Amino acid sequence: MSGRLRGKRAFVTAAAAGIGRACALAFAREGATVFATDIDAAGLVMLAQEDGRIKTRVLDARDFEAIRGAAFEAGDIDILLNAAGFVHQGTLLECDEKSWDFSFDLNVKSVYRMLHAFLPRMIERKTGSVISIASVASSIRGVPNRAAYSATKAALIGMTKAVAADTVAHGVRVNAICPGTVETPSLQGRINQNADPAAARAGFIARQPMGRLGTAEEIASLAVYLASDEASYTTGAIHVIDGGWTM
Ligand code: NAD
Repeated sequence: MSGRLRGKRAFVTAAAAGIGRACALAFAREGATVFATDIDAAGLVMLAQEDGRIKTRVLDARDFEAIRGAAFEAGDIDILLNAAGFVHQGTLLECDEKSWDFSFDLNVKSVYRMLHAFLPRMIERKTGSVISIASVASSIRGVPNRAAYSATKAALIGMTKAVAADTVAHGVRVNAICPGTVETPSLQGRINQNADPAAARAGFIARQPMGRLGTAEEIASLAVYLASDEASYTTGAIHVIDGGWTM
């Protein structure tokens, strides 16, 4: 199917790689005007080379002033996809205060910043779909060595539900996607940090009932649905897409 997002304008963070990138490409394929942002300028150039319709802009999801400026320049936005996130690997005792604060700044406060920049106009226009990429490593499942990360993603789930409750009467829908383990450059980076990367990859796959990792495109398909008018009765919902990991 194509054209499901025709006439809509989408703003995506962390769009140069992984899930954000797949979402930007899928939104464009479905007819949306896409504003793809990231801190990785070279990655954005490659994205624009893959789909020349996508507009790109270097943007740090931790920079409030820059976000406000980008929101002003982008104009009316129908779809906001928040993908920026950082995985701290380790237990709570292995997480120093700096890493804890950074995790919350990027994974939670960046979404607070994006909502401050984009939500008022969505409420005014009485339309909008906000989609944040959380994780099943959150309030959904306890995963070893993901204490800080899971705390941030649980916070993002809480924020999603609360903002959905505040905006449901204003025509704005706010949803979270909770992926399981997805094949992305950052996952490969985490795998490579292990002494035995092949064994680490096998370990990630072994915990998946489907016997494989998810793909960024599979996550993007769900994002397209949530962004589209097909999902018009869906808000404040936590969409698990994890190959059966938490079934
Ligand atoms: P990723 O973590 O590799 O990030 C992709 C992009 O984020 C990169 O292009 C990077 O430059 C950009 N980025 C980093 N810091 C940024 C910042 N301050 N501002 C803007 N962009 C920034 O990609 P991913 O693995 O696809 O993760 C995307 C989201 O999905 C994250 O929120 C992650 O927590 C979540 N998630 C991923 C998985 C997985 O297995 N990959 C599973 C569940 C949830």
